[in-house]
Amino acid sequence: MQELTHFVNGKHVKGTSGRFSDVFNPATGEVQAKCPMASVGEVEAALDIAARAQVGWGAQNPQKRARVMMKYVDLLNRDMDRLAEILSREHGKTIPDAKGDITRGLEVIEYCVGAPELLKGEFTDSAGTGIDMHSMRQPLGVVAAIMPFNFPAMMPLWHVGPALACGNSVILKPSERDPSLPLALAELFIEAGLPEGVFQVINGDKEAVDTLLDHEIIQGVSFVGSTPIAQYIYARATASGKRAQCFGGAKNHMIVMPDADLDMAADALIGAGFGAAGERCMAISVAVPVGKETADNLIEKLVPRIEKLRVAPYTDGDDVDFGPVITAASKERILGLIESGVDQGATLVVDNRDFKLQGYENGFFVGPHLFDNVTPDMDIYKTEIFGPVLSTVRAESYEEALKLTMDNEYGNGTSIFTRDGDTARDFASRVNVGMVGINVPIPVPLAYHTFGGWKKSAFGDLNQHGPDSFRFYSRTKTVTTRWPSGMKEGGEFHFKAID
Ligand code: NAD
Repeated sequence: MQELTHFVNGKHVKGTSGRFSDVFNPATGEVQAKCPMASVGEVEAALDIAARAQVGWGAQNPQKRARVMMKYVDLLNRDMDRLAEILSREHGKTIPDAKGDITRGLEVIEYCVGAPELLKGEFTDSAGTGIDMHSMRQPLGVVAAIMPFNFPAMMPLWHVGPALACGNSVILKPSERDPSLPLALAELFIEAGLPEGVFQVINGDKEAVDTLLDHEIIQGVSFVGSTPIAQYIYARATASGKRAQCFGGAKNHMIVMPDADLDMAADALIGAGFGAAGERCMAISVAVPVGKETADNLIEKLVPRIEKLRVAPYTDGDDVDFGPVITAASKERILGLIESGVDQGATLVVDNRDFKLQGYENGFFVGPHLFDNVTPDMDIYKTEIFGPVLSTVRAESYEEALKLTMDNEYGNGTSIFTRDGDTARDFASRVNVGMVGINVPIPVPLAYHTFGGWKKSAFGDLNQHGPDSFRFYSRTKTVTTRWPSGMKEGGEFHFKAID
């Protein structure tokens, strides 16, 4: 049995708490590794190292920090196949999906190469007689990133990259369910030239997280995960005066208008609803066709596409559509929600409740499911299922579909499929959701824009990656300088000479 480590002061370090959590092979259900759960003392030791390492790193000029990022991009590209294999082995997602996970993280590191430009301050010459004023962006100090299981490369890189580029030290607390890839990311930072102790990985659970949240060395906290934990972390971190940004769960709606290209909409729903087994915060979990005819036609197009989906382990090749979900508990929870949908009166159009994969009977596979006639009072509508389950809520009009989307407590992503520019523009302008797609099912902004939801999908003011991330991981200081002699005698001469 492999025993995983923490990554402290540039090295892999064994856990000393005696507590471990099981890491599964989700395709077989077997325990393949043990992940150490850090004690308070282990976290505190890492914090001391981080604080000392930050002094030199924060004082480096931003261009030198950017060069580490440049080198890191090369290393991620060099090791893409190896990293994707590590990721898929613990997460279960297909290799193309794993490479997408790493690539979306890598794109944010590429953005961080622009640190000197992004951290450039402002300057006002002669704000008063003999007075100049300038502002600068300085690192926060030591920050913590507490990350979810579903994107073990992308999510850490979205936070660690900008935090390091701004001159902070970072303690990453990855998900205990797939911690190997974050450990591999840490090794590569050392190879890229990052000084030891500036980026450390502490594995653990609530004990480690609470220690980070309460410790005075930590100045900023970034969290990504489920909404109840996001709320908890935001409240606890800000209570002790820390800067915090906490991103939560989602229930993303896709409105399909009667004038939409229905084949395009159906294809989009397959990818967005079932890709990565629905374990994405930007997955579309609710389809909202407008009008009976649109709904009937959409369902007719979806069913054969869903029946063709190939659910298998990632090792079965690149034509696998999606793999298992992350744990047995997650599988049980998803199947329980599907039962509740049936009990509460939704129509289960594609039913794979008895899905079994030969040779992988103990794996955490869940077949794809499609519900029709879902209503907002049902548990399958109210809950983030985080599995391969697409619900259809029929709406009679655009206004009804818009209201449904707006009344939902989550506001991460949404999309509309239509050929009508007026409707699309109205939707983008009025909907109370952070990321909007028009004929695009998963509107994930690129690295140089920012990513974040509204309502119960995000707590805090600044988004992930893009310019917001540099604002989050740095603070502004403004300096006003009076030059005692004011303007030198004869200072006007220069202007006269130009005349
Ligand atoms: P999770 O909330 O269970 O765990 C996230 C992190 O919090 C993990 O590191 C975990 O160890 C830690 N944690 C869990 N319980 C804790 C507690 N009681 N106290 C302190 N720390 C605790 O989330 P998950 O299952 O790993 O990830 C899936 C969720 O993440 C989904 O809800 C998904 O929508 C969301 N997500 C959101 C975004 C976004 O940008 N909004 C992106 C990716 C995932």
